[in-house]
Amino acid sequence: SEVATMMDVSVTEIISACMSLGMMVTMNQRLDAETLSVVADEFGYEVDFVTSDLEDSVKVILDNPEDLKPRAPIVTVMGHVDHGKTSLLDYIRKENVIAGESGGITQHIGAYGVTLDNGQKMAFLDTPGHEAFTAMRARGAQVTDLAIIVIAADDSIMPQTKEAIAHAQAASVPIIFAINKIDKPGANPEKVKEGLAQMNLLVEDWGGKIQSHDISAKNGTGIKELLEKVVLEAEILELKANPDKMASGTVVEAYLDKGRGYVSTILVQAGTLKVGDYVLAGKNSGKVRAMQDERGKEVKTAGPSTPVSILGLDGAPQAGDKFNVFADEREAKQIAAKRMQLQREQTVRTQRHITLDEIGRRIALGDFQELNIILKGDVDGSVEALTDSFQKLSTEEIQVNIIHKGVGAITESDVLLATASDAIIIGFNVRPMGNARQIADKEAIDIRMYSIIYDAINDLKDAMEGMLSPEV
Ligand code: GDP
Repeated sequence: SEVATMMDVSVTEIISACMSLGMMVTMNQRLDAETLSVVADEFGYEVDFVTSDLEDSVKVILDNPEDLKPRAPIVTVMGHVDHGKTSLLDYIRKENVIAGESGGITQHIGAYGVTLDNGQKMAFLDTPGHEAFTAMRARGAQVTDLAIIVIAADDSIMPQTKEAIAHAQAASVPIIFAINKIDKPGANPEKVKEGLAQMNLLVEDWGGKIQSHDISAKNGTGIKELLEKVVLEAEILELKANPDKMASGTVVEAYLDKGRGYVSTILVQAGTLKVGDYVLAGKNSGKVRAMQDERGKEVKTAGPSTPVSILGLDGAPQAGDKFNVFADEREAKQIAAKRMQLQREQTVRTQRHITLDEIGRRIALGDFQELNIILKGDVDGSVEALTDSFQKLSTEEIQVNIIHKGVGAITESDVLLATASDAIIIGFNVRPMGNARQIADKEAIDIRMYSIIYDAINDLKDAMEGMLSPEV
C-alpha cells in the first residue's frame, strides 16, 4: 500500500502486478528489493534504495518517469592478461580529449569520463579486469552498464577471456568485443571471431547481434569506431537517472593522501553531488570539502554517470561501497557509527549463500527458482558431459544455470563470481587454488569436489529433490 501511494496507483494494481509475477501478496506485506524494482518498473518508475540492508528500515525513493533524464553509459574493460586492457584505457584517456580541453587525463583516480567528437559522453572504470568488476558486484554494487572485452588477435580466446564473458553475462551486462593488436603481423581477427562463434557468441560480421570491432590500442586504429559502437549499444539500454535530487552512487577507490586527507573517487549514479553536501559512504561520512574531476580540475557539482574525487570523508570507504547524500548530518553520522559497530561485532560476514544441502528446503519453500553453478573440471570432455547432465536436471520449478565452466583449478575469480551470483562451485578432479578456499570459507560459498561423474549428478539430483544426506 505504501508503494501504491508513492506511485499514485491503486493497491489492487500493485497486487495484480505481483500476481503476474507469480506472487500472492497482501496490502500490508513488505516486498523484497527485487520485487519492488520489477513492480516499480511496470509502472515506469525506477527504485532507488537509499540505505543499505544493514539498517532496519530501508528508505525508498521513487523517481517520477518525467524526472528521469538520459545519462552517459559507464563502461568496464575486461579480458585476458596482456591482451591490451590497460593500453586501451590509456589510449582513450590520452587521446580522447574533450573538445576545447588541451592535453589528456594524466591522473589516475579509478574512473574517468570522456566526450566524443559528437558530444556523446561516457565514463570508464579505470581498474581493468573482471576481478575488480565482480568484487564490486559481490558488495552489491551494480555500476557497469557495458563491458568491452579485449581479445588479442595474435592470440586466441583464453581462460580469462572466457571468465570475463561469464562475469559480464552473470551480471547481465551487454558485451562489446574489441579485437586488439591488429597492427601485429600475426594478427588474425577472423580466427578470434570464429572462436567466439564456437562459444555461441556470434558477432555482427558473423551474422550475430554482438558488436565487435578490430582495433589497435597501440596506434589507435578503430578505437573511435569502437567507442561509437559503445554509444549505439548504450542507446538501446535507454539509460536514465534523475539528476535533480540528492546524490547517490558507488565508491570506486579511496586512499589517504598525506597532505589532503582521505581522497575518495566516487561515481555519481543518480542525483547531483555538490560541494558542501553531507555524504555517507559505507562506514564513513563527512562533508564534501572539495571535488575534482579526472583532470584535477575543481568542480562544484557532479551529476549522474560522473566520476569525481572528493575530499572530506573521515576515512577510506571500500571500493563497491554505496554512498548517499543526507540532509541531516547527524543521521549520516549515526548510520556510519552503527555500521562501524556492526562490523566490529561481525568478524565473519553473515551473508549466506546457497549450499547444496539447503537447495531442497529452499525449493520446497518456493523462494528459489534458479540454481547457479560454476563448473570446473580437469578435461573438456568431463566438463561438457557434466554441463549436459546438470542442465537436464532442470525442472519446471527450478532452472539449472551453468553460469561459468572451464578447464582448470577453482580460482579466486570463480569464488568471487559465485559470491556475486549466489552460485555453488562444482569441481571435477580439480581443487581450489591459492586463496580460493580461504575466500570461499569466508564468504560461505559451497565448493563440492567430485571424481566420479555419476556421484556429482546424483548429489545434485538428490539436493534438488531435498533428499541429499548432510555432508559429514
Ligand atoms: P593488459 O594486461 O590486458 O592490461 O595488457 P597491456 O595493455 O598491459 O598490454 C600488454 C602488452 O601488449 C604491452 O606490451 C602492450 O604494449 C602490448 N599491446 C597492447 N595493445 C597492443 C596493440 O594494439 N598492438 C601491439 N602491437 N601491442 C599492443
